[in-house]
Amino acid sequence: MDPDTDFDVIVVGAGPTGLTLANELGLAGVRAVVLEKLPERTGQSKALNLQPRTAEMLDMRGWLEPVLDRAVARLPAGHFAGMPLAYDAFDTPFPYQVGIPQARVEEFLEERLAASGGAPVLRGYELTAVAQDAAGVTATVTGPDGPRRLRAAWLVGADGGRSRVRKELGVGFPGRDGRYSMVVADVVLARDAGLPTDWQLPRFDPSDEGAFLIPLGDDTYRFLFGGPEQQKVDRDAPVTEDEVRAALRPVGGVVPRLREVRWASRFTDASRQAERYRTGRVLLAGDAAHIHLPAGGQGLNLGVQDAFNLGWKLAAVVRGRAPEELLDTYHAERHPVGVGVLKNTRAQGVMMVPDEDVLALRDIVTDLVALPEVNRHLAGMISGLGIRYAVPGAPAHPLLGARMPGVRLPDGRGALVGHPAAGPDELLRPWRDRVALTAAADGDQDLVLVRPDGYVAWAGTDGTGTGDDSLRAALTRWFGPGD
Ligand SMILES: Cc1cc2nc3c(=O)[nH]c(=O)nc-3n(C[C@H](O)[C@H](O)[C@H](O)COP(=O)(O)OP(=O)(O)OC[C@H]3O[C@@H](n4cnc5c(N)ncnc54)[C@H](O)[C@@H]3O)c2cc1C
Repeated sequence: MDPDTDFDVIVVGAGPTGLTLANELGLAGVRAVVLEKLPERTGQSKALNLQPRTAEMLDMRGWLEPVLDRAVARLPAGHFAGMPLAYDAFDTPFPYQVGIPQARVEEFLEERLAASGGAPVLRGYELTAVAQDAAGVTATVTGPDGPRRLRAAWLVGADGGRSRVRKELGVGFPGRDGRYSMVVADVVLARDAGLPTDWQLPRFDPSDEGAFLIPLGDDTYRFLFGGPEQQKVDRDAPVTEDEVRAALRPVGGVVPRLREVRWASRFTDASRQAERYRTGRVLLAGDAAHIHLPAGGQGLNLGVQDAFNLGWKLAAVVRGRAPEELLDTYHAERHPVGVGVLKNTRAQGVMMVPDEDVLALRDIVTDLVALPEVNRHLAGMISGLGIRYAVPGAPAHPLLGARMPGVRLPDGRGALVGHPAAGPDELLRPWRDRVALTAAADGDQDLVLVRPDGYVAWAGTDGTGTGDDSLRAALTRWFGPGD
């Protein structure tokens, strides 16, 4: 590493994406720092759920239990534009959505980062410029003591939809602006009969202008609305208490009585994606790389999963274990996943337009979504369970590129899952610092090489013998040369 660098990696943004990435880098002993422009956490709830695949990934690291302790509810299903999706058709220990406000997920990630001696989170530090050369990246930062420069080998922009990093790089953000403007508010309501008390899937009723109340506990509710009034207001105009009160409509025959607006903000169905996730030594992740309607509850999950994909690869490059080209697989794998989410959120947006013709389409699609195969397809898309990465060069296998449910990778190393009788021990020895040997469940005959993010990089019945060098090749490709 360049002796002049202050850090291996600068992470810009302490949202769920930046904090997950910082934790991942910490597992590998990478010297990182997180810069966050806000002096303190806002406590805004924003996202309310973890999809099953995110739950699996947190569990793989042993982080799910403390997250569940902070959760509010479990939703037994997902939804596509309000049409229920069953997650129990998948082989997953978590066939449900974890109901948890985003602020609590961030709180956990930051506490874990501090407890593990990981990257410091510097609050009140705003990145204002980025420049890179062959040896590293220089970030100009305005902090409490004025401007300063920080130098690192790599920088990751996890700085949200209006990403300064993305703009500094000049990376295109094609897509379209929002067509509808909506308000999200956390409100405290007077306790009245008729108000919902349990979390539930958003229902679609064309007459209620998208207004929806989700109970968060302690008389606090997530209130979403976007009627004709909201379309006349500037996107950056503050939301007033009167605007929120006027939008509250009868629930169970009673108009909810507003006690307090905790926070409120506007959002739109704007849909854009960065044209490249890597520009030399700078990478983009989370909302900095993609924005879309929060339909189905996917944005936070997409960002956290970006971070799980990028973290171990960046750590391997920083530590000189893998060539820089490994980072190109981050774009190759995650950009298409983002394309899919943008596509399904746009489709959901159309399906929620209160128009007679859309209602006719919706009736037909509702019937289709009830068909098990269609339901499973959409559930795989929204939950993240259906993700399957292309793995060029490896022999075909039903598991290749798919997630490996139930695998534990607490220290961030990969794993070779198999029976000792299959004889992989000797072959694996030069990679044992990066890949653990894990016993397969009884009855599983195949050897499966699992990457640190829980996806299958190679699978086969042997791969260790003469004439089949494919396992060794996969180990080298994903984990670098053996010692
Ligand atoms: C109303 C609403 C409901 C949603 N519901 C869901 C849901 O149910 N499920 C779901 O999965 N997702 C949901 N989302 C989306 C989710 O909130 C986002 O996808 C998520 O916050 C993205 O996380 P991030 O870390 O990438 O970005 P952010 O959370 O935006 O974090 C970026 C951080 O970077 C900081 N930053 C910005 N610029 C700079 C700078 N120049 N220097 C230093 N720091 C900087 C910001 O202050 C911020 O803390 C919802 C979003 C909205 C608006």
